[in-house]
Amino acid sequence: MLNPDKIFELKRILQSPKKVVIIPHKNPDGDAIGSTLGLSQILKKLGHDVQIISPNDFPKFLKWMPEAKKIFNADFNPKGAEIGIAQADVLFMLDFNEPSRADQLEDLINNSSAYKVLIDHHQFPQEFDFTYSNTEMPATCEMVWHFAEAMNWTDLVDADIATCLYTGIITDTGNFKFASVKPSTLETAAQLIRHGAEPYKILDYLDTFSESRLKLLSRFLDNIQVFPEYRTALFTMSREELLENGYQKGDTEGFVNYGLGLEDIVFSVFMADDTQKDMVKISFRSKGNFDCSEVAREHFNGGGHVNASGGRSDKSIEDTVKEFVNLLPNYAEKLENTTI
Ligand code: 5GP
Ligand code: MN
Repeated sequence: MLNPDKIFELKRILQSPKKVVIIPHKNPDGDAIGSTLGLSQILKKLGHDVQIISPNDFPKFLKWMPEAKKIFNADFNPKGAEIGIAQADVLFMLDFNEPSRADQLEDLINNSSAYKVLIDHHQFPQEFDFTYSNTEMPATCEMVWHFAEAMNWTDLVDADIATCLYTGIITDTGNFKFASVKPSTLETAAQLIRHGAEPYKILDYLDTFSESRLKLLSRFLDNIQVFPEYRTALFTMSREELLENGYQKGDTEGFVNYGLGLEDIVFSVFMADDTQKDMVKISFRSKGNFDCSEVAREHFNGGGHVNASGGRSDKSIEDTVKEFVNLLPNYAEKLENTTI
């Protein structure tokens, strides 16, 4: 929650121009990119020297966002990221709960002497100099708006900033569809529209995708396995299938949600090979009170939210599927009793 003493402290720090670095999580999504871009543009208007440093690249379908091209990619230039973070007076970490989620930037964050600010909605947040965590919030972008309100910055929110924040809200709520949506989410969205966000244009940008995405969707749907007794849908995609269909980063984003559209299914899982490393990336989505982050955390080196989480496995995709299918009976009771 926002602490008035901490707001006062941060306002004092930001009274004079500072070197600010803003970091999203690895494989940043619409909320991570939207929140970092929105906040960076506010801080620039206040006269700070601001750089967003992303642990790695982000999907093409987000590259239209205002100032997206200015985001520094630590994967391309690790030395530059190191220097940037080492020189920062203030470090903002957005949309992640602990430095390990920033991958190779973890040690740089931990070793930095900057004043550290965390704004995030994931479970189990680490404490920093300033920690604004609220796991009830559907998107970090909504939290950046509330943070801007607390800092008295909302007058600075122009159409570009509003566009960035609105984008993160709709990508993290599946267009206001998920259970996490609050009255405050729609109120924030309304404010962002007043400040210049244009919902239909943003949706058009987000819904314009590559031919490879459509081909991959066809393959994805074809690969479905349903376990009706466990109210679970499982999808897989091997490296060969990804490459055959011209996979580009971000192409399979959101696919896992299709599983939840099936009648009586409350748990949807998507396992996809990494195209470079020998690793399987797993996305979990659930409905109602079935906590998919528990499965991610306890068995697949991951975590996230109750209804949306992720993890990974170092086994082959076939062995990961076997491991998962063997685990399902342990969750049979919870799955059976899930209410929406
Ligand atoms: P996605 O399935 O879209 O990759 O991730 C869904 C949610 O789970 C996101 O909120 C993301 O931050 C979280 N998540 C994804 N992968 C991991 C992971 O490896 N570790 C943790 N702790 N959270 C993850
Ligand atoms: Mn988020």
